[in-house]
Amino acid sequence: MIVMKFGGTSIADAAAIKRTISIITKKMRSKPVVVVSACSGITNLLHQLVDFTEQGDKEHSEQIISSIKDRHKDTVDGLASMVDPKRPTPDTTDINQKIDNLCNSLWTLSKAHMGGQIPDADKAYMISMGEYLSSNIVCFMMNAFGLKTAWIDARHFMITSRNYLCATADIPEVTKRANSIIDKAFKNADAVITQGFMGVTIEGDPTIMGRGSSDYSASLLGMVLDADRIEIWTDVDGICTADPNIVPEAKGINKLSYEEAAELARFGAKVLHPLSIEPAAGKNIPLYVLNSMNPDGEGTVVMNSQCIFDGVKSISYNENIRVINIYSPKMINTTGSLTRIFSIFEKHGVSVDMISTSEASVSVTVDAKAPIDPVVAELSKIGNITVDRDKSQVSIIGKNIIGVKGAVAAVFEAVSDSKIYMMSQGSSFLNLSIVVDRPEMMTVIRNLHKTFFENGN
Ligand code: ASP
Ligand code: MG
Repeated sequence: MIVMKFGGTSIADAAAIKRTISIITKKMRSKPVVVVSACSGITNLLHQLVDFTEQGDKEHSEQIISSIKDRHKDTVDGLASMVDPKRPTPDTTDINQKIDNLCNSLWTLSKAHMGGQIPDADKAYMISMGEYLSSNIVCFMMNAFGLKTAWIDARHFMITSRNYLCATADIPEVTKRANSIIDKAFKNADAVITQGFMGVTIEGDPTIMGRGSSDYSASLLGMVLDADRIEIWTDVDGICTADPNIVPEAKGINKLSYEEAAELARFGAKVLHPLSIEPAAGKNIPLYVLNSMNPDGEGTVVMNSQCIFDGVKSISYNENIRVINIYSPKMINTTGSLTRIFSIFEKHGVSVDMISTSEASVSVTVDAKAPIDPVVAELSKIGNITVDRDKSQVSIIGKNIIGVKGAVAAVFEAVSDSKIYMMSQGSSFLNLSIVVDRPEMMTVIRNLHKTFFENGN
């Protein structure tokens, strides 16, 4: 069995879905379990629908639902016209009826909550509608193109925690359910399709697992089904040595370890959801990142660290961060200061990325969007606080980079013209991160890329 996940751009319209179906066609002998996201842009529209509904804006809510409906029906029409004329012309009555029903249930919920606060479980249901729509269409078309495919509701097996809008999976419960449901589906079909992103509490209330979490759904499914491989199909040629939008010379990386990929996902690379590595790593299942626009490309395989060489693999970044510096001579020769400091961050739900400490001072970085005012107010009771704004974090990521001779010196050489506000080395030797002024970020990334990937290295 293999798990194949297709992101929004891989199913954006009729032409993209056709391409996706031809990719799946080549894997039919491997028993594909297909996980889909919503068609690109639809989850954003559903978020807007939730906002308009809460604001009591009936007109815009209605407009959004009708544009969602039109977009999906256009896709069905486009696909129906692409079916090989030798095959029976697909009867699209049922799938169009399904689209109507799903959009009607959106409208029913929107009307019921117009101008009021939508309970989180209903919000989760509304926001996950994109995946219900896309998975029904792809399933219908796979069958029309001759692939015998069964549709499964992810809410029959993806049991999650109760934080409805950013839930995490309850792995033992998912394992218990997914295997029997999917095995049963394969009795009458050669492929199975289900939705990413969505889940359900043990009590049956709808949940979602956060933006971009279909990768996580796919990796979890791969793990609980003991899949031979997990394929994440997206719109770029795998994971690159840097963001190609910043460094045009960036190249695809053939192989990465699970640890390197997790670090990259955590430190800015947007190709994979940060939670998607661990499930695959837990069972040592190779995870491929592939491009549905270039299906013959090599992509990137994420695998066991033993097969990966030491050294720098990629430069990633977080463009807008803040540094909070805490200075307190009282910390010298005392214990428990760090616990006190971090409990304040925890209390206010602000997550810390980089940390650097000395006897009397601690510096941490946080995302610029994090609500830090209450944290700063409380920290001021401990010591003198300064906040550096408009900073960027740049991270050099690779297996054992600290141990590779000359790597650290090369980093300093590459950034010698820029002011460095903070630096930290991940305890796992997998990353070296520096904080620079935001306007300097692009230059720093390009210099680092030149040093590690362009000068014949
Ligand atoms: N459709 C969801 C989103 O846009 C999940 C995903 O794409 O992975 O966030
Ligand atoms: Mg994604």
